[in-house]
Amino acid sequence: MTHRAYKFRIYPTLCQEEILRKTVGSCRFVYNWALAQRREAWVTQKKSVSYNATSKGLTELKDSPEKAWLNEVSSVCLQQSLRNLDSAFNNFFKKKSGYPAFKSRKNGGSARFMDNAFRLDSENLFLAKIKTPLRVVWSRKLPSAPTSCTISQNACGQWFASFLCEEEIVKLPESSVKVGIDVGIESFATLSDGRKFSQPKKIRRLRKKLARLQRLHSRKQKGSKNRERARKKVARIHQHISDVRKDFLHKLSTQLVRENQAIALEDLAVRNMVKNRKLSRCISEQGWREFRTMLEYKCEWYGRKLLIVDRFYPSSKTCSCCGAKASFGLETRQWTCGGCGASHLRDVNAAKNILAAGQAVSACGVDGRPTKNYVLRGRTQRSTKPEARASGIPAL
Ligand SMILES: [Zn+2]
Repeated sequence: MTHRAYKFRIYPTLCQEEILRKTVGSCRFVYNWALAQRREAWVTQKKSVSYNATSKGLTELKDSPEKAWLNEVSSVCLQQSLRNLDSAFNNFFKKKSGYPAFKSRKNGGSARFMDNAFRLDSENLFLAKIKTPLRVVWSRKLPSAPTSCTISQNACGQWFASFLCEEEIVKLPESSVKVGIDVGIESFATLSDGRKFSQPKKIRRLRKKLARLQRLHSRKQKGSKNRERARKKVARIHQHISDVRKDFLHKLSTQLVRENQAIALEDLAVRNMVKNRKLSRCISEQGWREFRTMLEYKCEWYGRKLLIVDRFYPSSKTCSCCGAKASFGLETRQWTCGGCGASHLRDVNAAKNILAAGQAVSACGVDGRPTKNYVLRGRTQRSTKPEARASGIPAL
């Protein structure tokens, strides 16, 4: 069973919105309050505060007259905020993420209702402390009864409900097709079979508009109504860009996962380190990390394999036919190998090399994590692992 979230747009009435705003605001307040407590305890006494201690503190806080307004919203959501903070700290201690940050009003916010605090009655969503049902735009059917419902508001004021459901995802039938992907600037992804996928042209247009609106925003006087209005416009464009990009990435990642049994991808964190800053900014803007995350979970869902080639490997300058190295600048798109005379399109050749590297790594049973020497030595080095030789996959 896999947990999967289903997100829908909701349209609260003015009255409902006021309660939602209060709920989200109280959750943010409780989160920031508990974070401050834990931080201070650590700084002043080198003591770590547990979830239970913050939970006890919250009960006392709600009893104090000046914080009585916390009782106006569902207590389930406030408890959940403390749990969220606790897992943020756990992730920090496990070195999975940075130190928890204070939540800001500007980024919108969210409140999580567990199954004892919301109810679905055919098409109607009832939340604790709100008497009337919320209007939800049901764009698809939920596969099972949800275990939680997270209400969120984005930076431009739209409201959403995200339901967490448990479901059995049917694995795709096995296939023998494999692909290598090279990510770049000119086209977002180039496949080892020669296909290219570019980002929607709309994004470039929206970016220009965004730059203009950001300039306007920065000229407005701080704290003025005009500035607030300009900020909202900027937030709306940001949202629009993010929606268009996500849609593109979802479609591409789903297509790739459907078509291929194994997908080889280069770890871009490594590439960012070796290339210039302007270039890496371009790449990060293209949502490369988002793309990888989508491929990761979709491969997991559908029984596919994602092979990450995570050491620097001169994929674009090595001939995918004979392994000879060439040298040329960033602007060269097409080249002919001096060793075997094969003519290559730069990106397609790189994608082919990434696929070969991924396959070799997977054949060695390292599961997408090549050892440093292995990839660095390039194609000419024969693998010493018997599995790689036996499977007939060319060694790097
Ligand atoms: Zn060659």
